[in-house]
Amino acid sequence: AGHVRFENVSFGYDAGRPILRDLELDVPAGSTLAVVGPSGAGKSTLARLLYRFYDLTGGRITVDGQDIAQVRQASLRAAIGIVPQDTVLFNDTIGYNIAYGREGAEIPEVETAAKGAAIAGFIERQPLGYATRVGERGLKLSGGEKQRVAIARTLLKNPPILILDEATSALDSRTEAEILDTLEAIERGRTTIVIAHRLSTVVHADQIVVLEAGRIVEKGTHAELLRRE
Ligand code: ADP
Ligand code: ADP
Repeated sequence: AGHVRFENVSFGYDAGRPILRDLELDVPAGSTLAVVGPSGAGKSTLARLLYRFYDLTGGRITVDGQDIAQVRQASLRAAIGIVPQDTVLFNDTIGYNIAYGREGAEIPEVETAAKGAAIAGFIERQPLGYATRVGERGLKLSGGEKQRVAIARTLLKNPPILILDEATSALDSRTEAEILDTLEAIERGRTTIVIAHRLSTVVHADQIVVLEAGRIVEKGTHAELLRRE
């Protein structure tokens, strides 16, 4: 499950000022699509449309053949996890921050759910030791650790569709490399849309589209795009 298609999608925030034009995307279930392009190209907008933050001005988006405009918003959003660029944590424990959004979640519940979603191991392998530090307050964490909390929060949902919206671009390059490895492992088996501003961070994507001023100007694998440069 998780076949995402954009069919002839157009969108503008203001009438008469289109942001995305005639966008065609086909992301088979379980594959990774990377969207790269300059700031202002419309990459985040594209991701928000899949989450149905806004209505399209033209075309349609389907998940497993169903028009998302016809799906209940709650079930659509339950199927999609987003890891944002900058994570704002609550001045509370790591456990609370991971569980945020899960009603009534307590730390033991978070631990159980984390194990169920196979994320406890992932966090333990990282400098952020989940088992030992789950009660620690989130504000002391480094940028990389905060991103891991954001990833864990998203994974707890275990969404079949994952959106990484410049999830590593605020990090230094060493931390970015560490987290990219983690993300690659997490993407397996999920339909993933990675938004990035550099080609070098999306080497593993099954397909890459380059967006400029709301249009796809190039598409291919990483190797194909490099060859054309
Ligand atoms: P990014 O390139 O990382 O997506 P932006 O600077 O484009 O960041 O946008 C940051 C935030 O400001 C987003 O939440 C976006 O919706 C909002 N935003 C960007 N441009 C405008 C605009 N022209 N009018 C209103 N909100 C905007
Ligand atoms: P990218 O993610 O590629 O940087 P965005 O999708 O954030 O691009 O923005 C694409 C265009 O839409 C930009 O011109 C931006 O200013 C505009 N924009 C983004 N969010 C909003 C918003 N909430 N309201 C109005 N304009 C916006």
